[in-house]
Amino acid sequence: MRPTGRLHLGHYCGVLKSWVKLQHEFDCFYFIADWHALSTHYEKSEVIRDNVWEMVIDWLAVGIDPGDSKLFLQSRIPEHAELCLLLSMITPLGWLERVPSYRERQGAFDSDLETHGFLGYPLLQAADMLLYKAGFVPIGEDQIPHVELARDIARRFNYLFGRESDFEEKAEAAIAKIGRRNAKLYRQHRKRFQEHGDTEALEKAQALLETQQNISVGDKERLFGYLEGGGKIILPEPQELTSDVGRLGGLDGHKMSKSAGNTIELREEPDSVTQKIKTMPTDPARARLSDPGEPTRCPVWGLHETFSDDACRAWVEEGCRNASFGCLDCKQPLIDVIIAEQAPIRERAKEYEAEPEVVRTVIAEGTDAARDIARETLDEVRHAMNLVYR
Ligand code: SF4
Repeated sequence: MRPTGRLHLGHYCGVLKSWVKLQHEFDCFYFIADWHALSTHYEKSEVIRDNVWEMVIDWLAVGIDPGDSKLFLQSRIPEHAELCLLLSMITPLGWLERVPSYRERQGAFDSDLETHGFLGYPLLQAADMLLYKAGFVPIGEDQIPHVELARDIARRFNYLFGRESDFEEKAEAAIAKIGRRNAKLYRQHRKRFQEHGDTEALEKAQALLETQQNISVGDKERLFGYLEGGGKIILPEPQELTSDVGRLGGLDGHKMSKSAGNTIELREEPDSVTQKIKTMPTDPARARLSDPGEPTRCPVWGLHETFSDDACRAWVEEGCRNASFGCLDCKQPLIDVIIAEQAPIRERAKEYEAEPEVVRTVIAEGTDAARDIARETLDEVRHAMNLVYR
């Protein structure tokens, strides 16, 4: 996540809630993408400095647990930059120019984005994913092309550098280590996939390999590569994990975003939340109290859909269409429910604000743990690229 401003309810509903859930299902890595922020905010780098720690406080306050997940700062792990540089040698320029966000986001920021850094940021993202051999990357729909690019780059890398001269011998030796029964199954699935293109057999063989505890990571990667007929898989291809949460509408009904000026901040004070919601536009058809309205034409309804319970939403739909109450009546339960949802977050955030050293320690420890993994991957990459000299 880029530290370019205070987090708001759009981040909370669209990203943070799902991060909290994912940390119980996966070994998660969440990082402060300060180098990515520079790609668009290089002329205002103080914004990044001012938001880094506030963003971490927000993460912790919503329930991201450093005991479950690794939380770290990208710029403190230079391996991200090294892997990005090495991958840049094999990434065709056209792949980056085709990423939709490169053209779409030109003009969306104050700074000139005709830069190497902005063209290359999807490559830096690919390095971010591949450095930790990510299985899944939680993203919004608009980021899918970026994960696809990371897969293309990983495949190209594995094709170019995953070929060991004695690969077949090593793969056969690895098969011998998984036990006679598993070896037989592996060979059967591999044959069915390679001779008949049976993808179900491929998936079965991959699942079989996932359960193998007695072979090294290197052997496992060889066997994954051997299945598909290639070489060793040094950088596994990541998959996208899109959440089914839609984008939260802002105070004006458009997507909530800082640049649109239509946000409610995650830790916004209750008085300000009240004021903002009370002054939200509503369905223009409700000029008078007695005029019926249509919730689906009203930005307030978008927030009710996300925050209010079934009973409240049914009450709004009926009351709006029958004009049995006014818009201020309709807004009050929404104000109450949003303030109630924010209350524990504000409370926990205050505790972290009072102890900035705790926040810094969380990031220092997470960064150390992530760096260990990053270094292992870089070691493999340097070896594969013949960059280890004696
Ligand atoms: Fe919007 Fe509620 Fe007013 Fe209907 S009653 S227009 S949903 S604020």
